[in-house]
Amino acid sequence: MTPRGDTASFLNALRDPKRAKRLLGAIKELTAEPVAIMEVCGGHTRTIVRYGLEQLLPKEISFLHGPGCPVCVTPRERVDMAVALAQKRGLVLATLGDMLRVPGSSGSLLQARASGCDIRVVYSPLDVLALAKQNPKKTVVFFAIGFETTAPTTAALLERCLMEGIQNVKVLVNHVLVAPAIEALLKEDGSRIDAFIAPGHVCTITGTAPFEPLASSYQKPFVVSGFEPWDILLGLHNLLGMIANKETGVKIAYTRAVLPQGNPKALSFIERFFDVRESFRWRGLGNIPKSALRLKHEFSAFDAEKAYAGVFSSDSKPDPEACLCGEVLKGNAKPSECGLFGQACTPQDPVGACMVSSEGACGIYFRYKGRVPA
Ligand code: SF4
Repeated sequence: MTPRGDTASFLNALRDPKRAKRLLGAIKELTAEPVAIMEVCGGHTRTIVRYGLEQLLPKEISFLHGPGCPVCVTPRERVDMAVALAQKRGLVLATLGDMLRVPGSSGSLLQARASGCDIRVVYSPLDVLALAKQNPKKTVVFFAIGFETTAPTTAALLERCLMEGIQNVKVLVNHVLVAPAIEALLKEDGSRIDAFIAPGHVCTITGTAPFEPLASSYQKPFVVSGFEPWDILLGLHNLLGMIANKETGVKIAYTRAVLPQGNPKALSFIERFFDVRESFRWRGLGNIPKSALRLKHEFSAFDAEKAYAGVFSSDSKPDPEACLCGEVLKGNAKPSECGLFGQACTPQDPVGACMVSSEGACGIYFRYKGRVPA
């Protein structure tokens, strides 16, 4: 049952210790064997660690943190492309705040800004419209990252540019698709994922369709969950029930936000403006076929990758050898297993992308790990 009422009582219900205790009791009854559950979203990881849920659950249940942080999975070469664009005269680079501090091969966007590049932080792609109007003699390039959740907002920016006849906007598209990344993890030798807490925000857009074929091909249960502690426990309870009954498939425990068919309007925006790339490199996961979006040919006037092809270099450096971001993103290592964690690598001075964002597992461990359950 989803709690209802005003915002405060609604949130209190989702964080109510008594309700959580009842659900924990039911989870304990369903836990027989060790089970490894991947929570795909960084938002889920944050709730699990922040509220100390692992410490409350039976020791047989372990969480594998997944590749669901968009800042973390954007690889170095794409950061390098953004830095190269920012260094062009007459160009304004616009991006979301977290991308500023992600290290590239020769520095971050923050360092590029300190050296004089015109880099602006936006809170929504639509803020780029105002920037373009304020800077009519410059080209404003939006460094677009994120999963299916944010791709429709980039599409909405392009739609507004078309409607208003704005011609000084381009987009460096780095939108990625979650299901192919999950499939890549399932195909890995020795994959030990038993079940998935499927990404709640992505599923508000896509519905369950991208995950159904994975559930049936790999015989795994998926439950779409929300982001409050009670949501995670409810998703976990559903998953354990499915495991006990040897059920596979995709269930929705986040019914207050997710419909099986997703959001048709947002999906139609994605379909109108984007094609699926043949292949795209993810940080840590390497090249994954059909795992990202690019602008359709008919919208290539907006495509920064095409307009500035000569600016990009192909000699990006890999992540430092000691950085375990790749293994963290695959759920193979916990942040605290990295020798740099909390010493050479901190949120103030990150070595790897997973320490930068509020959805990155390393940043989450740094801020919250070891908290007493609330
Ligand atoms: S602690 Fe830093 S260097 Fe280590 S895996 Fe995390 S982000 Fe990478």
